[in-house]
Order: sequence, then structure tokens, then C-alpha cells
Amino acid sequence: MAAKEPRESGGFPTLRVTGPVRRLVLVLGDQLDAAAAPLRVLDRSHDAVAMFEVAEEATHVPSHKQRTALFLAAMRHFALDRHRAGCRVHYIPLDDAENTHALGSELERAVRALRPETVVCTQPGEWRVRQALERAAERAGVALEMRPDEHFLTDLAEFDRWMAGRRRPVLEHFYRWQRRRLDVLLSSDGSPVGGAWNFDAENRRAFRNAPQPPPPYAPRPDAITRAVLELVERRFADHPGRLAGFRWPVTRAAARRALADFVRHRLPLFGTYQDAMWAGAPFLYHSLLSAPLNLKLLNPRECVAAALAAYESGAAPLNSVEGFVRQVIGWREFIRGLYWHAGPEYGRRNELDQHGHLPEFYWTGDTEMVCLRECLGQVLEYGYGHHIQRLMVTGNFALLAGVHPRHISDWYLAMYVDAVDWVTLPNTLGMVMHADGGLVGTKPYAASGRYIQRMSNYCSSCRFNPAQRVGDDACPFTTFYWDFLLRYARWFRGNRRMALIVKNAQAIPAAERRAIQQRAQHLRAELGVSTGAA
Ligand code: SF4
Repeated sequence: MAAKEPRESGGFPTLRVTGPVRRLVLVLGDQLDAAAAPLRVLDRSHDAVAMFEVAEEATHVPSHKQRTALFLAAMRHFALDRHRAGCRVHYIPLDDAENTHALGSELERAVRALRPETVVCTQPGEWRVRQALERAAERAGVALEMRPDEHFLTDLAEFDRWMAGRRRPVLEHFYRWQRRRLDVLLSSDGSPVGGAWNFDAENRRAFRNAPQPPPPYAPRPDAITRAVLELVERRFADHPGRLAGFRWPVTRAAARRALADFVRHRLPLFGTYQDAMWAGAPFLYHSLLSAPLNLKLLNPRECVAAALAAYESGAAPLNSVEGFVRQVIGWREFIRGLYWHAGPEYGRRNELDQHGHLPEFYWTGDTEMVCLRECLGQVLEYGYGHHIQRLMVTGNFALLAGVHPRHISDWYLAMYVDAVDWVTLPNTLGMVMHADGGLVGTKPYAASGRYIQRMSNYCSSCRFNPAQRVGDDACPFTTFYWDFLLRYARWFRGNRRMALIVKNAQAIPAAERRAIQQRAQHLRAELGVSTGAA
């Protein structure tokens, strides 16, 4: 019945449970919260915690080495922490000789070995995993209880009630509803603190002449993490990304320290520069908290509380605090609610009927477009990009060039350390690619090279000209942007937020319109996108 004697391997012991258990509490790699509902009810004498490292989670999309390393290192630290807290932990490492390398078959194997009456887990963050576990439990003939994920601030039934009767959900409406419901940044009369719900107008400054923030806190990998880094390098040698720049918190203590570091050093100017991009400055004033939040090492409530405390003490201004709070209680919860509300078929939507391939340089960063080279280089180095780089550079290019939404969604899922399907899919397929017909956003975030020029210094060292839409020096973003508007003129003519710009595109003289479309076609062929235009 007891856990086997630990044998150390890279600082991580063998953790196995033998004999029958009453409840088997399954903990997935993005559920590392010791206070989660299934772990709160754990009976340490009769129940056991099960955790599986399986290759399928790193290969169903070719996961960036740092993303895989982050999940595995955080899982091992969490398992050891639970073991030390007196829980019986059944942990199957990646290099276990009998590992079947899929979550479903590992669950079946654990059920056969430990003969639990019930398997309990928190609802997974992905339809694919949820369905795999349900099928595995059925095959194994064991009851599976999935508990709601209490990490989030909005219960899914509550979100569905908010959605009821809305033809089109609008993030801003949801955000205001959240502010009121959660009583965040409200005056005593219920109006928003500062007299406005957002301060976006103050939050669009370019980085030029801004003070450099100190380097963000980056925990030094301990023996367990170092062993995982070696394992990932060996096992997933051909996967994208580099491990040398691994800098992510893998324990709750380190995640708490990362939160404090952000609030103290970067939150005060976070809002002002949140849309800025700058060559060689990957982190700017961003929080870098999405990875520990999505692994559940941090709770959104404590992040919001820390930001509000900084505002109340005068350490951070309202435009920054409101901007951060909006991401946590607004955008993050909205996206997650929509993911589950839309159902498992959501991932197949392709309303703009785009079918192009993802250019090869997304995996290598090898392109002469400086903005993409910078953003992709950063992703390969750290598995990280901030929201404007994701939306307006890597995402915008895929949208304009005509890449199939699933190809770019899978790339996002593979390449960012904070990627879990509930966040990546609606954010990419919906917000970036507009492939859900406007469920997540009322218009696509299409922009020409001019936007990138305004918000960054990338264009100053690029061989292309962001103001030019035809000719050899024309910025590919700018060519593709006008081509996109022409391709989808009929589609977006009736969209209030797009009508004017579509009219401008149609007013371009016919000869130039043809030149734009020819150059776009040529670029697509050259970049290996080819096309499936509307
Ligand atoms: Fe990117 Fe175009 Fe600017 Fe070059 S000119 S950096 S391709 S936006």
C-alpha cells in the first residue's frame, strides 16, 4: 500500500503506489494546484495521486523543447511536493520502460494496477484530452468524476448563462460584467474607478525613448529541472526551439516570486507600453505570468489582488493596473468560456475558406522580413511572444497570406510555453484568423506594415518599405493587406468596422489593384503558402 522507496534520478525519486486504492486523483500537467477540488478531498490513507508524462502530449503538435521541458519540470516538482506533503503519488516518467505514451492508455494501465473505485480529476483544458480520458475510463470500466476547474473566476454554467440570448458576444460587455460581478476597480456608486472602463488611449505608446526595465526574474534550473532539460534535448532533438534560454518558474514559490517581480518592476509602465515591439527586447514591461497561470502555479485571484494593491498603495497607475486586470478577468476568462461554449467542432471552422500552408520560416525564423525574424527568433529562443507580436505580426501575416486556420493554430499550440488548447484555439482561430465568423472578434485584426512601423523599430532595418504595396521593395504585409481587403471585399462590405477600409481598397485604380493581386500571388508561391482564396 505504501509508496515505493524513492530512488533518486536527477534529484527526482521514483514515486509508485502499489495495491488497491479507493480514489485515484489524476493530475494533468496544466493542473498543478494543490488546492484544486480533487486534491482537497484526497484521503491520504486510501487515495492516490496519479501523474503521467507521455510523449503524445509533446508530439500531437511538435512541441517547442521549452514548452515540453516546462510542463515536465513543473509536474515533477509538483509530484515531489505532494509526496513530501504525505500524499501517495503514482508518477510515470517519460523514460519508464512500460510507458505507453498516451494519457488514455496510461490511465487504463494505472486503473488495472491500482484498481480504484473511482478516478477523479479536474476538467482538462482541451476537448481532445477530455474525450480521451472519458473513453479510457469507459474501456477500463471505472467511474470518472470530472470536477469543474475552480482556478477560473467564471464557472462554465455561469458563462453559458451570460451567453444566452446574445447573438454575438462582445469582450467589452463581458469585461464590464466581470468588473461589476467581481467588484473590481469600482467606485462606491458602481461606476468604474477613474471614470472609464479602459484607458487604451494611454496604452499605445511606442517604446522609443522609454526607460529599460530591469531583466525579469528568471529562476536558475535546479537538479530536477536540469535533468528534464537533458531528457527533452535527448528525446525531442528534432523538435523546434532551443533550451539554453529556459527561464520559466516551475514551482509555486518561483511563480509567486515572478508575480512580485512583475508588480514591482514592470507593472507601473505595463499599460503605457503594452502594444510596443522593439528589436532585441523580447519582454519589455510584460508580466510573463501566462505560463505559471496556465499551469495553475498561480491563481488569477492573487494576480489581480497584487495589481490592485499596487494601485491602492500608489505604486502603479490606473492605466497599467486596469490593462493587466482586463487581461486576467476579461480576456482570459472570455476566451476560455467561448472555447467550451463553442464545442469540440469549433476547431474545424474556416469561415474565410483559407487553405494555404504555413511558410517553413515559422519553424526556423529564417526570413528577410525583420519583424517576423525578430518575433520568430524570440519564440525559438524563449517560447515566448507578447500579445501584440502574436496578434499583429505572426498572426496577422498568416491571416493576410491566406494560411489555413488550423495550421497556424497548431503552430501556436506547439511553440509557446503557455499554450493550452482552451486559450490557443479561440485566440488564433477566432481572434487572429477570424475563422469562426466573428464569434471571438467582430472584425479581423488585419493590418499593413504601417502598423508594425508605428509600433516598433523593426522596419528601420528591413529591406522592405512598409508604405509600398507593389514593387520588389513593397512590404509583404502591406501587399497582402490590400490583397486581403480586395479578396474579401464582398465578405466585409457589410461589417460596420470594415466598410470604410474596404471601400478604400476598391477605390484603388484597377491597374494597381491587379498589380497588388499579382504580387500577392507571386509572394504566396515564393513563400510556399500557395492559396485557397475566397
Ligand atoms: Fe515587417 Fe514590412 Fe516592417 Fe519589414 S517593412 S519589418 S516586413 S512590416
